[in-house]
Amino acid sequence: MTVSTLHDVHGPLNDAEVLRIRNDFPILDQDVNGRPLVYLDSGATSQNPQSVMEAEQEYYEQRNAAVHRGAHTLAVHATDAFEDARETVAAFIGADSNELVWIENATAGLNLIAYSFGNASVGPVSAAAGRFALSAGDEVLVTEMEHHANLIPWQELCRRTGATLRFIPVHDNGTLDMAAAAGLINAKTRVLSFTHVSNVTGVINPVAELVALARRTGALVVLDACQSAPHLPLDVKALDVDFAVFSGHKMLAPTGIGGLYGRAELLDAMPPFLTGGSMITTVTMEEAGYLPAPQRFEAGTQPISQAVALAAACNYLKETGMDRIHAWEAELGERMVKGLEQIPGIRVLGPESGVPRAGLAAFEVAGVHAHDVGQYLDAAGIAVRVGHHCAQPLHRRLGLNSSTRASAYLYNTTADVDAFLAAVAGVRSYFG
Ligand code: PLP
Repeated sequence: MTVSTLHDVHGPLNDAEVLRIRNDFPILDQDVNGRPLVYLDSGATSQNPQSVMEAEQEYYEQRNAAVHRGAHTLAVHATDAFEDARETVAAFIGADSNELVWIENATAGLNLIAYSFGNASVGPVSAAAGRFALSAGDEVLVTEMEHHANLIPWQELCRRTGATLRFIPVHDNGTLDMAAAAGLINAKTRVLSFTHVSNVTGVINPVAELVALARRTGALVVLDACQSAPHLPLDVKALDVDFAVFSGHKMLAPTGIGGLYGRAELLDAMPPFLTGGSMITTVTMEEAGYLPAPQRFEAGTQPISQAVALAAACNYLKETGMDRIHAWEAELGERMVKGLEQIPGIRVLGPESGVPRAGLAAFEVAGVHAHDVGQYLDAAGIAVRVGHHCAQPLHRRLGLNSSTRASAYLYNTTADVDAFLAAVAGVRSYFG
């Protein structure tokens, strides 16, 4: 049975099917602090299904070797595994395989892109590299809801080049102020970089509208797909973005691997970020020629087994159905927010219940520090994230230093959400 046939025969996800899915994740079957683990921290990092761990193990048992270089049979098998993985992961996000660069994580990808701007003089690159020139008078536009990974690289770029960093503000409910966005994008805007889904509020940004604004002025569009690639159907070509980044560890794969999508013509025009072995054509003592993308950006020995595992994760997600995963998580997110809204002293960050959001909710408990909330929940076997979630400016905008975040994935049931809500309901009386 092909994957697409599998999609067709599946109905919406429900608790019974999620319980079957959960069997694929051995780590979830354990007690923590004497209570069954309720893992609601997938926004930070997700768990790996057996098939992903087996894919990595099989690679080491059968095919491990250096890729692209060796003449021996094992090296050919390793190279095939590595490049097949690229094809699978690229297809998963609607890209061609020459448009997918392996990166360590989304942070590395965003740094790579930001470093390419204003750095076009490194190495012998094509004339199109002019699109990456940046200087005083130019502007880089981000949003107020960015994860630090999609903010600090741009701050540094602006500091290096003299360009100006601007940001699209958010409304009180955490959604983007699109009227302000329209006013902020202008002929000086060279880059618009924004997150697809907020890791704090679960807000899903209007990508098409933002891309349309950027296209009016010729700004390049960078999409931080860290919280979308794992959770909803993503087609970078249909979205018409120029770049996108995502982290494997947030989508059922191991740490140390992620993807950077770039339009082929842009990747080939970009200067390399890291230089060294595996990314060159010829080298003399004076200079080097560079391979086309994606190899141009893959200097040194790559995370091969992790790439193989990420491809297995994409297959797992695809077979489950990204549309079904998205719908299920939206249901869990709504259940969380509705439940939290009914608990006295809780303030949910972001839109109220009834507004579509991703399957996560960050909240404040009046009079109780987020770290205390996290410890209280941990004692009940419930794993959540506390702190600023690498989004200090957004927290500041919403009048807080920190919050508690519960984030669901395809292996969470409504019972997980209900256990979480029941525990949250006890927090304030416990801390008196
Ligand atoms: N962008 C968003 C929206 C995120 O949620 C995260 C991680 O939480 C990142 C970027 C950075 O991901 P990583 O730490 O895997 O590089």
